[in-house]
Amino acid sequence: MADLTAERPARTALDGSGPAAARAEIDGLKRRLHDHLRHSLGKGPVGSTHLDWYLALALATRDLMVETWMDSTRQAYKTDAKRVYYLSMEFLIGRSLVANLLATGSLDLARQTLDDMGLDFEAIRDCEPEAALGNGGLGRLAACLMESMTTLGIAARGYGIYYDYGMFSQYIEGGQQVEMPERWLRYGNVWAFDRPDVTEPVRFHGRTEARLDDRGRPRRRWVDGEEVLAQAHDLMVAGHGCWTVNAIRLWSAQASREFDLRRFNQGDYINAVAEQSFSESLSHVLYPDDSTSMGKALRLKQEYFFVAASLRDIVRRFLQTHDDFTRFPNKVAIQLNDTHPALAVPELMRLLVDEHGVGCDEAWAICTGTFAYTNHTLLPEALETWPVGLIGDMLPRHLEIIYDINHQFLEGVRRRAAQPDDARIRRLSMIDEAGERRVRMAHLAFVGSHRVNGVAALHTELMRAGIFADLHRTFPDRIVNKTNGITPRRWVQAANRPLAALISRHIGETWIANLEELRGLLPLAEDPGFQADVRAVKRLNKEALCRYVDGRLGIELDPASLFDVQVKRIHEYKRQLLNILHVVTLYLRLREGRAADQPPRTVILAGKAAPGYHMAKLIIRLIHDVARVVNADPLVSGRLRVVFIPDYNVSVAEHIIPAAELSQQISTAGTEASGTGNMKLALNGALTIGTRDGANVEIGQEVGEENIFFFGLPAAEAEALRHRGGHDPWRYYTGDPELRAVLDMIGQGGFSQGEPDRYRLIVDSLTRHGDYYLLLADYADYIACQDRVGLAYRDSDDWTRKAIINVARMGRFSSDVTVADYAADIWGVPVRTEPG
Ligand SMILES: *Cc1c(COP(=O)(O)O)cnc(C)c1O
Repeated sequence: MADLTAERPARTALDGSGPAAARAEIDGLKRRLHDHLRHSLGKGPVGSTHLDWYLALALATRDLMVETWMDSTRQAYKTDAKRVYYLSMEFLIGRSLVANLLATGSLDLARQTLDDMGLDFEAIRDCEPEAALGNGGLGRLAACLMESMTTLGIAARGYGIYYDYGMFSQYIEGGQQVEMPERWLRYGNVWAFDRPDVTEPVRFHGRTEARLDDRGRPRRRWVDGEEVLAQAHDLMVAGHGCWTVNAIRLWSAQASREFDLRRFNQGDYINAVAEQSFSESLSHVLYPDDSTSMGKALRLKQEYFFVAASLRDIVRRFLQTHDDFTRFPNKVAIQLNDTHPALAVPELMRLLVDEHGVGCDEAWAICTGTFAYTNHTLLPEALETWPVGLIGDMLPRHLEIIYDINHQFLEGVRRRAAQPDDARIRRLSMIDEAGERRVRMAHLAFVGSHRVNGVAALHTELMRAGIFADLHRTFPDRIVNKTNGITPRRWVQAANRPLAALISRHIGETWIANLEELRGLLPLAEDPGFQADVRAVKRLNKEALCRYVDGRLGIELDPASLFDVQVKRIHEYKRQLLNILHVVTLYLRLREGRAADQPPRTVILAGKAAPGYHMAKLIIRLIHDVARVVNADPLVSGRLRVVFIPDYNVSVAEHIIPAAELSQQISTAGTEASGTGNMKLALNGALTIGTRDGANVEIGQEVGEENIFFFGLPAAEAEALRHRGGHDPWRYYTGDPELRAVLDMIGQGGFSQGEPDRYRLIVDSLTRHGDYYLLLADYADYIACQDRVGLAYRDSDDWTRKAIINVARMGRFSSDVTVADYAADIWGVPVRTEPG
C-alpha cells in the first residue's frame, strides 16, 4: 500500500520541478518566517515559542491572501458585481491556519520548512486559538457557506459580531460540565484586520417625532437616546485555490465620542468611564444557547447593533456607485441567517424612508427584493418573539415601522380574502396578541423577504404544513428548500489528509472543487485492494484519535473496536439519552452473556450543554457515570467502552470525525431541521444509524436504503403521537422487561452509588412526564437496529463497501452545491465554474 500520510503538493515547486527549486522555496519561507518573527513580533529565533512560530507562519500565510483580497475587491467594484451579504449572529470558524495554507497551496511547504527547522508543525498549529463565534450547526453553516461563496467567486461579505468571548470552554469536574470563559483574542487575531477608522453609530432608546422633509412631505424621525459606535474587524476567508478572498466584517462595540464628552463634562469621571465600558460590553459575549430563545434584552441589543452597523455599511457602499435606490435589489442580496437579524427589515425601511427620502411603497419593494430569510428550527421554544414594550423602549421608530408593515400586510390579506377570517388574521399577524403582546420575528422576516428557505427537504415541507402554513397560503411561492451542505476543503481535505490523498490517487484532484466527482469511486467499492486501503486509512485515523484521547484524558481505546460516535450539542431532542439507553442495554446483555455475537464497541460522545439547561447537563453527568461503571467492569472489559471527549468544537470535531465508523443521528423525527454533522461523518466514511429526520432522509436517498441504518417513527407518526395524546410511555416501561431493567438501573442508583435519586428526574421525564421526545416509543426499534449494525460490522469487507458507497455518493452535500442553488434561485448572481 502506498504511503497514506503523503502530502499532496500544490502550487509549489515541491511538485517535482526539482530539488533545487524545492530547496529555494523552503529557504524562501524560512526567510519570511524569520522576517515576521523579527519585524512583526519583535523577537529573535532564540527563545521563541511555538506561539511565536504560529504567529510568524500565520502572518506569512496572510501575506499570500492579502493580494488576492485586494484583487477580489477591485474586481467587484470594476464589474459592479451584485453583492451577497450574509447576516449572521454566529460564525463558527474554528482554526484557520491549515485551511489557509491549503487554500494558498502552501501546506506541504510549511510542514517541510518547519521540519527542516526542527520545529513541530502540529504543536505550532495547535497554538491557534479557536474562533468559536457560534454555538453549533447554524454558526458552522455560516462558515461553510462563506467558504463556498468565496470558492465560487461570489462577491460576498459576511456580517456579524466580534465577540470578546465566544463559546465557553467546557471542562468536566467530577463528571459534570463546568463552563470557563475563553478569551480567544488574547494574542490578537492574525486573520482579522482591525479597522479603528471604520465605525458606524448605532442608536438606542430615545423617541420619534414628526417633521417635514425638504419637499414639505410629512416624515418621522428617531431622535435622542444614546449612541454606541460599531467598529469593523475584517476576517479574511480564502476560497479553494485562493482565487478569491472575501471578508467577514465583524463589529465590536465602542463608546461613542459624543457620549464620552457629554458624560465627562458632568465631572463624574469614574462613573463616566464605568458607563463607557458598559456600552462596550455589548459585544462582550456570545449567548451560549442552542435551540432556545432566552429573551434577554442584551441579546436584542446585540441583534440590532450588528444589523444597524451592517446596513449602514451596505447602503454606503451601494451609494458610492449609484445615485438612487432603484437598482438596490439588482445589486444587493441580503441573506438573514435565522430570525436573529430580522430587525434588518424595519431598519432598511427606516434608512430608506426616514434618512434617504424614498417613498414607503418603493422602499417596501426594495426591502422585499433584497432580503431572503433562512429558517433553522421549528421547535416552539426556539422561535424568537420580543415583547412589544421592550422593542418600543429600545427601538421606538422600529416598532412604529413594524406596526405599519403589519397593518399594510394584513389589510392586503383582508382585501384579497373572499370573507374576512379573524382567526386567520390573528395567526398571520406579526404581533402575537395572546397575553403580553410580542413581535413574532419569524413573521417579520418572512413578510419582508422574497424567499424563505428551509434547510432540508423534510424541514421545508414541515414549514409549509406547520408553523408557516398560513403565510404559505398567502405567499405560495415564497418558501423554497436549500438543503445545507459542508465544505469538503475543511471536512475532508484538511481534516482527513489520508483519505483525501487516497481519493486523489484514484480519481485525480479535482473532486475537491467538484464533489460530485466522488462518484468515480463507485466502481472501486467492490475492489478488495481499494477496500483494504480504505480500511487502512480508517485504522490510521482511529489510531490518531486513540493517541489524542490518551493524551488528553489518559484513557486507552481499542482501535480494533467499532467506533460509534455521537458528537453535537447536548439537547433532549437530539436524544443522547437514547444512545445511553442502548449502552446500558448492551452492558447488561454483555454481563449476562447475551451479546456474544456483538463486536467490541467504543461509544464516543462529545458536546456542550447550554449553561442553564439543567436536563442537558444531567445527561452529561449520566454519560460520565455510565462510562465510569462500564469501563471499570472486568466482565465487559474489551467488549464495551464509553468515552466523553470534553470541549467539543470545530477542531475537536476534526479529530473525531475522520475516525468514526458509525454516525449517530437519532433525533426525534421532525425536530432536527437538517443537521450537518450527519454529512461530515458520512463523507468521512462512517455509516449512519438515524431516524428519518432532517437531511438524514436525503442522505438515505443518495447512498441508498441498504447503506444506511434507519429506525424509528417517521415525522408524521411522531407528530401524531406527541400532539394527539396517543403516547403512553408507561405502557412501554411495563411492557418491555429489558427497557424496564435499564430504566430501573439508572433510576435506582445503579450508576450513582450513594445517591440513588441522582437520575430520578431523567427517568421520571420518560416514564411519568410524557416522554416528549418519544425515546420509549423508538427504543425497541433502535436497539434492534443497533444489533443489526453490530452484525454488519463483523462483515468487514461488506461494511467497507458500504462506507465507500457513502463517501462516493455524498457529493450533493458539498456547500458548493448549496451555494450554487442559493445563487441561482435566491440571489441572482453567477457562480464561477472554472478557477481564475
Ligand atoms: C458541524 C458541527 C455542529 C453541527 O452538528 P449537528 O450534528 O448537525 O448538530 C456543531 N458543532 C460543531 C463544532 C460542528 O462542527
